[in-house]
Amino acid sequence: MESLYWADQIAEKIISERGKKEGYVIASGITPSGVVHIGNFREEMTVELVKRALKDKGVEVRYIHSWDNYDRFRKVPANVPAEWAQYVGMPVSKVPDPWGCHGSYGEHFEKEFEDGAKELGVNPEYMNETVEYESCVYAEKIKTAMNSTEKIKEILNRFRKEDLGNSWYPATVYCPECGKDETKIIHYDGKYTVYYECNSCGKTNQINFSEEPGVKLRWRTDWAMRWAHHGVDFEPGGKDHSSPGGSRDTSSIICREIFDSFPPTYQVYNNISLKGTAGKMSGSKGNVVSLPELNSIYLPEVVRYMYASTRPKTDFSIPTDDEIFKVYEDFYTAERIYFNAAKEIDKKREAHWKRVYEMSVVEAIPDALPVQVPFKYMTYLSQFYADNDVIIQKLKESKHLGSCPSEYDLNRILKQIKCARSWAKKYADEEYKFSLQKEKVFEPDEVHLNAIHELIATIEKNFEENDLYLIAKTSGLGKEFFKMCYKILLNKDRGPKLLDLINMIGAEKVKEILELYC
Ligand SMILES: [Zn+2]
Ligand SMILES: [Zn+2]
Repeated sequence: MESLYWADQIAEKIISERGKKEGYVIASGITPSGVVHIGNFREEMTVELVKRALKDKGVEVRYIHSWDNYDRFRKVPANVPAEWAQYVGMPVSKVPDPWGCHGSYGEHFEKEFEDGAKELGVNPEYMNETVEYESCVYAEKIKTAMNSTEKIKEILNRFRKEDLGNSWYPATVYCPECGKDETKIIHYDGKYTVYYECNSCGKTNQINFSEEPGVKLRWRTDWAMRWAHHGVDFEPGGKDHSSPGGSRDTSSIICREIFDSFPPTYQVYNNISLKGTAGKMSGSKGNVVSLPELNSIYLPEVVRYMYASTRPKTDFSIPTDDEIFKVYEDFYTAERIYFNAAKEIDKKREAHWKRVYEMSVVEAIPDALPVQVPFKYMTYLSQFYADNDVIIQKLKESKHLGSCPSEYDLNRILKQIKCARSWAKKYADEEYKFSLQKEKVFEPDEVHLNAIHELIATIEKNFEENDLYLIAKTSGLGKEFFKMCYKILLNKDRGPKLLDLINMIGAEKVKEILELYC
């Protein structure tokens, strides 16, 4: 039966538009002009999921991710020192790394992103466009474009309010003297040589682009040229490229009419916002979440799930606030559906959720339903105990974990403990922040003391929730009893349900804390 899942449908479309072939080239591309954030990652994730869908159809797939690092450094983002303004106009691959840990500004953000993507099982062939351009592999196509200047201008002018001027060329020159693109091409010889003058350093010179670096095609022509050069069958684009007459439209015409190639199958994808962090994500404002940062609070399969479960044309938000609990629960539901362990299931949506799950797993699908610890529960446990072995022991006692967990489960638990700890530390509201008390935090009177003794006696045997209410009642403390317990255990006025809390902490440990008051 034909799959209705979006990535499968794109795969179908690619095969029908491009014709049956043994293999397909799919591509994504990002300019590393600042933190490559989780909104930018939708570009790569869209291609990654289409890759999986194509592979499931039994075809070969080459996935190229271009680092468009030969693009100019346009402006200094908020988190970068203001002095970096001196590098505006240079390729981002030639701007120094402000933090000094990488070869260049561009590489700093590329590596951070690549590390994050790798954790999610996303491993495309990364293509460094500076290296490509400087090796002169694009020379023939640059020549084609330069000789088609009038035609390209005419194509672009169809969609422009103001026509491009007489001196316009589809290429720009990075001046070898000062490294900047504040140059003007004054003559082209019809072969490989451009003559230019530099407004920045005042030099006039020439470059043979079949032998020397420095000439780069402008964006729309560049995009079309690379589709043709690599034979790209599919590449998505954000909304900013997808408006009528926008770069996708014009690059497609240039691809056909200038480079005599068929533009790739396209898919527009929408924006991603953050929930729980102030403001809209914007690279230039610096209020963005990087991929490694996202991975620090979400399991890799849950990150993939968020992208996989949303159609590309739908906006979605990634929560860093307490809605994170729900995202984990939603993922667990999809996982249970996959393993036929869901209680309630809409039969019509079953195939969809199973496919979403297949797209979410990082590598192979586990043999059996993995352990599913609620993230909220893990948030508490990870704050109560610093020792992971103790947490695993507690999870066994609470029956979240069997006595002999699989390697897969243990791995997931350990990763999740790490995620829960960093979420509690960096993003959690006060109501989710707890630490077990080691000292007395208040002076109990007679009534309180009696209740504390009652509680110790109760938790020493098998007890139920009702027994706790009974102490509250017989002690005469009522609600005050629960408040006192939270005070003693957590130095807070409230907390998780007392029965759950005692079970989480463990009777022994609770007793130890209560005895501080006896
Ligand atoms: Zn660095
Ligand atoms: Zn110059």
